[in-house]
Amino acid sequence: MVLEGKIVTMAGEVIDRGRVFVEGDRIAAVRAQGSPAPAGWDDAKVIDTGGVIYPGLIDLHGHLAYNVLPLWEVPRRYENRSDWMRAGAYKRDITVPMDHLTSQGGPAFARALVRYVEVKLLMGGTTVAQGLRSKSGPGGTLYRGLVRNAEAPDEAGMLRAGTRVPDLQLDQVGQMRASLDSGDPYFFHLAEGVDEKARNQFRLLQDENLLRDNLICIHCVGLGAADHQTLRQSATHTVWSPFSNLLLYGATLDKEALAGDFALGCDWSPSGSRNLLHEMKVASLHAQAAGWNLSHEMLARSVTVNAAAALQWDEHVGRIAEGMLADLLVLDSNQVDPFENLVRATERDVRLVIIDGHPRYGDRGVMDTAASVQNLEFLGVGLRPKALDLHQPESPLQGIGLQAAMDFLRSAMSDLTKPPPPPLFPMMNALADEEFSVELDMQGEVEDFPLAMAAAEPRRSIPLDPLTVVDDPDYFDRLDEQPNLPQDFKGPEGLRAFYH
Ligand SMILES: [Zn+2]
Repeated sequence: MVLEGKIVTMAGEVIDRGRVFVEGDRIAAVRAQGSPAPAGWDDAKVIDTGGVIYPGLIDLHGHLAYNVLPLWEVPRRYENRSDWMRAGAYKRDITVPMDHLTSQGGPAFARALVRYVEVKLLMGGTTVAQGLRSKSGPGGTLYRGLVRNAEAPDEAGMLRAGTRVPDLQLDQVGQMRASLDSGDPYFFHLAEGVDEKARNQFRLLQDENLLRDNLICIHCVGLGAADHQTLRQSATHTVWSPFSNLLLYGATLDKEALAGDFALGCDWSPSGSRNLLHEMKVASLHAQAAGWNLSHEMLARSVTVNAAAALQWDEHVGRIAEGMLADLLVLDSNQVDPFENLVRATERDVRLVIIDGHPRYGDRGVMDTAASVQNLEFLGVGLRPKALDLHQPESPLQGIGLQAAMDFLRSAMSDLTKPPPPPLFPMMNALADEEFSVELDMQGEVEDFPLAMAAAEPRRSIPLDPLTVVDDPDYFDRLDEQPNLPQDFKGPEGLRAFYH
């Protein structure tokens, strides 16, 4: 397959008109128009995208199992993650519904959830994600799906990331040290909060000599400028999730904190962005409001090369170059500057997403040419016809379409007082993956549970979060009601302005 268009290689070059040659799961060559094609490509299928070709986007922070839930109505400003995780409203809106749905819905619910979550990623151009810990098969191996999983890579030579979400306790230092000693990338939620308790986690890492170059620090909100400098000197990596920080704490990282390279992460739908296209807009608005000249190119780097470097996957993904994996995103060409074009793009503008050489999602016309028509499922995004190719014969999700998955999720979530009805989709490959399940890593401390719940009436139902921002007209009204979100994000000049 040959893709034609403007090519943003993220390797220092933008080719105004060029071709990407894809052979199997790899990029075989990248050429400017007019340069001769490599030998043997005369009969290849050529797709003139008419758009701008980028490396697939990499999202380095998620709790993807929760992405079926809508935006949480954050009750007040919090100082630390432990405050909201203990709150009755959090238990009522997040912990209790998720516990019910996953325990009562079993493998069918887990499968529908993973199908929905992966398509949500595809619709935002994401080809690698962190935080999808679903398990299947003997011994509960982590699920490898359509979108690459930072914690369960499927390619030889790609390191497998470790993860720790809760605060580090003294007696767990040895365990974390052993993980870091392995050299594998390790994600840690560092200082998620603005108080002293948050900063103490940084002190602990520093005292225990755990600030290593394979440590990927998510959030870092409670750190001072000198702490961030220490992180840079230690060559650790920072993942910035501005939207989640602003919604929960009314504060996030600034120009000094992000003076070096950083990556971006959406966190999760209850308090974060729906996809990276959304998160880049938040980052851009935040910088603009603070008078900080954060370039579009820097944001483009944060979701491609910088993220790949943090994962130590930079020889495989994050750039368009010969020998790299064929993970690609094609967008409409709406802006002269290709980096601004990426930051301003909405889900409507996504023409094509390719992972591992497979066209998985895009405009219907493009997918009709690029994919096998018999595998396509059709849908609309922002009034544009789109198509999905979810075909993956060995997957425990094989045979579960997006619509069927969403119908099941909606019916399960519409009545939280009883177990979900049986699904209408087939459970193929069921024997091998009888125990398919998702791991919930944001349920909080169990001992707080009865006390908090006593103060909150349980919810009888909860809506399924829409897949995109463009097709959720009420979304911005709900943002306007969020108490901690700064005024710059609200009203007609806020985030809405990007989605007209
Ligand atoms: Zn998180």
